[in-house]
Amino acid sequence: MAVENKKIVVPGDFLGTTEEFTLGAGVYDEKGNIYAALTGEVRVSRRREIEVVPVVETPPLPREGDIVIGRVEDLKDSLVVVSIACLWGREDRSVAVSLPGVIHISNIKRGFVKDLRHEFGILDLVKARVIDAKALRLSTAEPELGVIKACCSACRGDMLRRGNVLVCENCNRIELRKIASDYMRVA
Ligand SMILES: [Zn+2]
Repeated sequence: MAVENKKIVVPGDFLGTTEEFTLGAGVYDEKGNIYAALTGEVRVSRRREIEVVPVVETPPLPREGDIVIGRVEDLKDSLVVVSIACLWGREDRSVAVSLPGVIHISNIKRGFVKDLRHEFGILDLVKARVIDAKALRLSTAEPELGVIKACCSACRGDMLRRGNVLVCENCNRIELRKIASDYMRVA
């Protein structure tokens, strides 16, 4: 009995006979029997050609509760726009595309935020939790969340943490941020 279309098979799985199918890619024939040559999905064409197509692992998509890493793209009056690059702990694999997430001013930190430009800067790297996976709403209202690497708004230089403020390596400018507890570079 022949294998059904779209079934996932591993090398050596019996797929059918050369009387039923012609050979496509990813299969081999032994005495009239066809076997899978690799792990993948069986595809049978209309012309009864059988092949095994490798299954490509899909990139991870952020889910509610996940922590993501992204870059600040834009600052509005009440929103921070972040392009999400990857999931925290899965930095080896970027997300499908760089997805735009948003941090509303009320989700930046506990307590009142008067001006979000004192909490984030353009091109900063941020670590944030996904609180709504569909709309990609993010929150940094936890001590370990916030800016992990900041970019000087005057010269784009790297900023070093000094206590509760950040100091530019290049121009010594001092700026404020919602700093994550594991900010990358400490003075
Ligand atoms: Zn600077």
